[in-house]
Amino acid sequence: TSGDKDSQLIFDLQSETSPVFQLPWDPLDVLSEDIFDDKVMAEKLPGAVCGRFKECLITGAPCSEEDMKTIADCLFAWARERGAIDFSHWFFPMRGGGGAVGGMLGAYKQDTLLDLDFSSKFTTKPMKACLPADRLFQGETDGSSFPNGGLRVTHSAAAFTTWDRSSPPFVLNKTLYIPCAFVTHFGKCIDEKTPLLRSMDAVKREGLRLLKATGLGKDAKTIYSYLGWEQEFFVIKAEHYKARPDLVNTGRTLFGKLPTRHQQGDLNYFAPVPGTVQLLLDRVQGVMLKIGCPMAVKHNEVAPGQHEMSPVFRVANVSCDSNVLFMEVMNREAQRLGLQVLFHEKPFSGINGSGKHANWSVGTDTGLNFFYPGKTEEGAKLFVTGIACLAHGLRQYNELVRCSVATAGNDHRLGAQEAPPAIISLYPGQGFEKYVDSVINGGDLLGYKAEKKKQATGCSQADPIEANVEDRNRTAPFPFCGNRFEFRAVGSSQNCNLPVMVCNAIMASGMSYLADLMEKGLSHRDAVAQLFKENRHVVFTGNGYAAEWRQEAAKRGLPNLNTTPKALATWSSEKNQALFEKLGIYTKEETLARQEVMYENYVTSLKIEADTMIQMVETSIWPACVKDLKVMKMYSSKAEVLVAAPEATKKGGWAPCGTAPESKNGNQEPKKTSGTRRDAYEAIMTETEQLKSLLQQLPEALAEEATFLCDVVKPQMERLRLAVDTAEGVMDAELYPYPSYETMLYSH
Ligand code: ADP
Ligand code: MG
Repeated sequence: TSGDKDSQLIFDLQSETSPVFQLPWDPLDVLSEDIFDDKVMAEKLPGAVCGRFKECLITGAPCSEEDMKTIADCLFAWARERGAIDFSHWFFPMRGGGGAVGGMLGAYKQDTLLDLDFSSKFTTKPMKACLPADRLFQGETDGSSFPNGGLRVTHSAAAFTTWDRSSPPFVLNKTLYIPCAFVTHFGKCIDEKTPLLRSMDAVKREGLRLLKATGLGKDAKTIYSYLGWEQEFFVIKAEHYKARPDLVNTGRTLFGKLPTRHQQGDLNYFAPVPGTVQLLLDRVQGVMLKIGCPMAVKHNEVAPGQHEMSPVFRVANVSCDSNVLFMEVMNREAQRLGLQVLFHEKPFSGINGSGKHANWSVGTDTGLNFFYPGKTEEGAKLFVTGIACLAHGLRQYNELVRCSVATAGNDHRLGAQEAPPAIISLYPGQGFEKYVDSVINGGDLLGYKAEKKKQATGCSQADPIEANVEDRNRTAPFPFCGNRFEFRAVGSSQNCNLPVMVCNAIMASGMSYLADLMEKGLSHRDAVAQLFKENRHVVFTGNGYAAEWRQEAAKRGLPNLNTTPKALATWSSEKNQALFEKLGIYTKEETLARQEVMYENYVTSLKIEADTMIQMVETSIWPACVKDLKVMKMYSSKAEVLVAAPEATKKGGWAPCGTAPESKNGNQEPKKTSGTRRDAYEAIMTETEQLKSLLQQLPEALAEEATFLCDVVKPQMERLRLAVDTAEGVMDAELYPYPSYETMLYSH
């Protein structure tokens, strides 16, 4: 059975270190074998139970007790066939610092699949394996040790996990995973998933209202939002990772000089994936396929050591779950191969960081897509209506969109010419921009011509290409991609739930506004034209990296919230609170709690970074400087210089990438060299003392503390980094206490 194969696999993977190891099965043969999806339910459950369950997913009604029991028994038997000995409610606390812990991972406690229900204390009832229905559908736990923004206190700590019935359970590593929402005793959300599920309900509710008002999509019973994520990450050797306290504690390098060759010449993008990394990606693809997450793409990214994988898109909540799972599986498989995956947004300074593009769309159960121009009049009308709603949402709740990607890690990417700017605009394509103006000026709703263009290649053997309706724009935070929008500003370590929740919320706001206008008597055309007119200035199809765009955006009144504290300050505005409340996504209390958690996550990340820098300087970098100066002083006696160096290399426990022969052979005049070095090294101490003194001055209130860390402490950290990196550039390479960038980025 597949259960046996699985245990064999786990055994093999754990004991195996040889890079030639292959998966014992073909992932395409065992596709979805270990996920309890629609197909399995249809096969294993009585038809009537299965039908009622599906109906409940659409109506939102609870399942009957009897059906719950049938489903639990069936799931139990199925999971046992796959070797499960435990089950886990798997949920997503609002934890920050995702970069440092290898991505925003899920939380779970492994519960035994044994019956714990004994009637008497002294029972002799034999033990029985089972999964009672009440344990499948709901769990109770201590909520006080999860970030909750004041919604949970230690003396009132109960919190509950409850199965998100639309995200199928699966078996992995002998555990039955049950994806769950996580709420307090009073039903307040203290997780990432619950608000997303609520936002999916909001899009459905407002979307159906809009369809009714416009007369489009008459047969639609429900509306789904979809997500296809693209996950970027770095892979380095585990031994290098462990030798760098900055990577271990913060997920990014706080010091480190760029190698002379890094990403110039575009040598890395789509280049062959290095051997061990290819093995890692193949294995992860295999595991993900088996548990029903169809991985679609893997490739090398722009920076050396950087790669990307993405799956086939699915309903948003299921896809968000699979992204967390992907990060968990990557971490586990990498460990088995002596590798370490870095999900931080900016692990290395000076080369590209990592993002997580959220390809997002909204559509009906009958196959109509709000973001696909379509081949029918109905599709075409829905498309322009959909974009009008999105333009409204993006303009009216612009700050929310920015907040959904505001983290300490992501601040290093946004606006740095490698990711979209911090200004949130809409790119529907240049052809569509012209069409927007025509509708504003009275044009017809069917005036947008979504024609694919044939282009000759100029040679006889390569066929003409069929170019997309609109070109791509890599500088836009929210570009149109043919049948979806790609929210490109999401950070690589983030959980997708919050950004996708906000996409749904702003879309629902536009749907609701448009439906209101039509219910008040405006024609469909006029209502769409009004939305375009009111929000015209959020549409931008030029170069988002250009300095002129910042000036132009300011003229248009679009916010440029270029740091996390600036963004977070806008989260709980009256307008945003009202929207969340109206859509049933957050109560006022939950909105405020979420803001507090985001501030806390930011402050914690920065403080750990500053403390780690100080530690690294005092315990390793400064001692290395002192040794280097000593060696330089002894320079006149060549023999002594050569003795001093190897001793220092023992310390770090890693193999240095190379030696710096000049420092031993000495082409320079010794006194001058040590003088230059002394200056560089002394700068390190001066900057460290300055950093320490700033950390003594942190304000108490959370928002002020975040701003101080951002505006005052962070620039000081950058000054210290510059001093250390300058020192690294002159120091005997054997004395530098950590693996260099060159070693980390080019070791496989
Ligand atoms: P790119 O060419 O932009 O790098 P990829 O092929 O790497 O794109 O990834 C595109 C992602 O978009 C995939 O996950 C794909 O499944 C997803 N996608 C495609 N169509 C839709 C859609 N309608 N809604 C949401 N996601 C989609
Ligand atoms: Mg891609």
